[in-house]
Amino acid sequence: MMSVVTRFAPSPTGELHLGSAYSAWTGWHRAREAGGTFLVRIEDTDIRRCKREYETSILADLKWLGLDWDGEVRRQSEHFATYGKVLDQLDQRGLVYPCFCSRAEIEREIAASANAPHGPDGPLYPGTCRHLSVQERRDRIAAGQELCLRLDCEGAAREAGPYHFFDESLGRIEGQPRLMGDFVIARKDTPTSYHLSVTVDDHLQGVTLVTRGIDVLPSTHVHGLLQKLLGYAAPQYAHHRLLTDATGRRFAKRDRDMTIRAMRESGMSAVEVIDKALDAAEKRQAPLPR
Ligand code: GLU
Repeated sequence: MMSVVTRFAPSPTGELHLGSAYSAWTGWHRAREAGGTFLVRIEDTDIRRCKREYETSILADLKWLGLDWDGEVRRQSEHFATYGKVLDQLDQRGLVYPCFCSRAEIEREIAASANAPHGPDGPLYPGTCRHLSVQERRDRIAAGQELCLRLDCEGAAREAGPYHFFDESLGRIEGQPRLMGDFVIARKDTPTSYHLSVTVDDHLQGVTLVTRGIDVLPSTHVHGLLQKLLGYAAPQYAHHRLLTDATGRRFAKRDRDMTIRAMRESGMSAVEVIDKALDAAEKRQAPLPR
C-alpha cells in the first residue's frame, strides 16, 4: 500500500487560529495514525500580504501544539522558477492569456453585462482580455501595462476532457473546469498563483491525501483541471468542515482571542487547545454542502 503523505499549507497572512490549527491537526493525525509523512508548506506567493513574522509564529505554534512535521518546510516564494516552467508549458499550449484589466475595470464590465457568469465566490472574470488580438497584446506589453495571466478555461476544459476527484466524505466528484472561470494562473507580481503552486507542489512533494477546509472545495475543481492538463496523479481529498463559534460564525484570522498565541498566553496547555479544537469540531461544525 502507498504510504500516506499529508500536508498543512498555511499562508502567512496572520496568526494561527483555532480553525487552522484544527486543519493542521487533521493532516498531522492522518499521517501519524498511518505511519506516514506530514509536511508543512508555507504558501507565501502573495508577496504583499505574506509576512515572515507570521510564518515564524505559525511554525512556533505548530511546535508548541506538538504537531511535528517531517523534513524541511517548503517555502513557495523560493520556487518561483519551478512554477514558471510549468506556466510556460501551459502557455506554449495556448491555454494562457495576458489580462490587463484593473479590478475597477472588471467590476465595471460585470456591472454593464446583463448576464455575467457567476462562480462560488461571486461574479467571474468576464473574459474581456481573452479576445484581444495578438497585436493589441504586443502593444500593451510594449507600453509597459501591468498584466496578470489567466487560464482560458474553455480551451483547458476541451484539452483536459472529463476528470474527477475523490473526497472521503463526499465521494466521487466530477470536475467542473469552468467553475472559477478564467482564473488567474500568474499574478501581476509573481510567475504563479495559489492554484498553480498548490497543484505543482502537491505533485512534487508526493502528497497522497489533501486535508483542508471545505471552503477550498471550489478550488479543488480547478486543481483537478490543472492535474489533468499536466499529467499529474490526483491525490485523495478530505475536505473538513469549518469550525464555528457558538453563534455559527466561522473562526477567522481577525478573531484575536481565537489565536493559538492568545490561548497559550491565557495559560492553556497545548493539550487543552487541541481538545478545544476537537470539541468545537464535534459540536459546532458548519454543515458540508452537497
Ligand atoms: N494556503 C491555503 C490557505 O491558507 C491553503 C489551502 C490548501 O490547503 O490548499 O488557505
